[in-house]
Amino acid sequence: MSKYIFITGGVVSSVGKGITVASIGTILKSRQITVSIQKLDPYLNVDPGTMSPAQHGEVFVTQDGAETDLDLGNYERFIDVNLTADSSVTSGQIYSAVIAKERRGDFLGGTIQVVPHVTTEIKERFTKLADKSQAEVVIIEVGGTVGDIEGQPFLEAIRQMRNDVGRDNILYVHVTLLPYLTATQELKTKPTQHSVNELRRIGIQPDIIICRSDYPISEAIKDKISLFCDVDRQAVIPLPTVSTIYEVPLVLEDEGLGQLIVDKLSLNARQTDLSQWQELVRHLETPREPVNIALVGKYVELKDAYFSVREALCHAALYHDRDINLTWIPSEDLEGDDSDSLLRSAQGIIVPGGFGIRGIEGMIKAATYARENEIPYLGLCLGMHVMVIEFARYVLGSTKPNSSEFDASTPYPVIDLLPEQKAIENKGGTMRLGNYPCQLVDSSRAASAYGQSLVYERHRHRYEFNNQFRAQLEEAGMVYGGLSPDGRLVELCELANHPWMVSCQFHPEFGSRLGRPHPLFRDFIGAAKDILREGAQPPLPLSP
Ligand code: GLN
Repeated sequence: MSKYIFITGGVVSSVGKGITVASIGTILKSRQITVSIQKLDPYLNVDPGTMSPAQHGEVFVTQDGAETDLDLGNYERFIDVNLTADSSVTSGQIYSAVIAKERRGDFLGGTIQVVPHVTTEIKERFTKLADKSQAEVVIIEVGGTVGDIEGQPFLEAIRQMRNDVGRDNILYVHVTLLPYLTATQELKTKPTQHSVNELRRIGIQPDIIICRSDYPISEAIKDKISLFCDVDRQAVIPLPTVSTIYEVPLVLEDEGLGQLIVDKLSLNARQTDLSQWQELVRHLETPREPVNIALVGKYVELKDAYFSVREALCHAALYHDRDINLTWIPSEDLEGDDSDSLLRSAQGIIVPGGFGIRGIEGMIKAATYARENEIPYLGLCLGMHVMVIEFARYVLGSTKPNSSEFDASTPYPVIDLLPEQKAIENKGGTMRLGNYPCQLVDSSRAASAYGQSLVYERHRHRYEFNNQFRAQLEEAGMVYGGLSPDGRLVELCELANHPWMVSCQFHPEFGSRLGRPHPLFRDFIGAAKDILREGAQPPLPLSP
């Protein structure tokens, strides 16, 4: 039977609770304990697929096609397990399931209530993941902070779990923030005491408190939290802000969290082996020569909107012993006359995924710039559409080629809906989602990057390359580096007469790992790293 660790947050959000959860996964896995992770999101959306990335951050896609919170990306990167739809639970899913059961008559005669009907539905999601994953430990993060109205049923459900599975099979971990007061130069514990009180009010006594802070946490503060919040002294775990998220498992391990969890849950653990992780973090923290990459996107005001892209770039750069110097360019800024100046120092240009017409012309300009100046270019999903539109405009000598997503009446819809997508009316969960096979074409750049002939990659889009234009663009120098196995869908495009201009219809960023960069990102940085650009210093000749 699986054991459970429930993680709640206190005081404020955005203190890195998701990274902490992922890191607990890492330190348990380093003891050969099998883990799975689930995120409970209190909002009423069924999934974040219809939410703006500028508000909510990236939508992470699992292999089985669930559109999920970006925390799942961190879980996957940290425990190196490909999660499924079962790892993502929202209030919207829970309520629609309960109401569907009510309409079907499953509760005939009953009055449907938050307790027990909603909480039972929630608990079934916990046990379903435990049963399917067969993990020794299932870590469950409750999104938001204690006290949020929407989060109450989730907290009630995790409270009930203590009686359902027994006190010894469950741990409650509370992640909190210790704010720093500049005037008195001290860290304050009162907000933590209040959030623990709030937890206790609903019947949950935390076993472990992880204290986030921008400043070192003294022994006196730990004593105070231990006393007021009634947790063991060694169960107050400080987590100061660190330079890279990948350091968090090492900090938690150093503070003894791994052993504490093993003891409290009586787990069968092997000797900890974090040496590979340690080595990667040491490498990450060593100063390295930067590669200048321009990320041209629509949602750059919120960096979290491209979380996995940024991580994949970081993994790829580390492989080449380089650092990433990422310039975030709002694509609309490229629509003016002076667009070239914004791209002049870029050694590589990346156009990530996105939806809607805003900023598209700026992205197309970035693709033109990359093509004409032979700057490495990586297009991800929308970035492939942009590359195809740009090349078609060049080949056809017309400004009209477009995607029918942005111009429904274009005479050259080089990107278009498939007939089966045209009939779909609902927006939620109706895209081409999740893993699909892609047959690589021999001697393409993509095939040489992957070093294999068939790959599976994660998709999230409605529009596709329009085959009507396939031959014409091919003749002009576009290479189709990967196709669906039936040959019908173009999955990868590249330009023959360009050092490295490659785009894919899928999202390779989701599969990249620290120490195992995605091949397309790896080769993109490989092509970009030695390009000399404005402001770069050419290597000095060695003196005789
Ligand atoms: N908007 C495009 C489509 O729906 C691209 C989607 C994406 O980049 N994820 O096909």
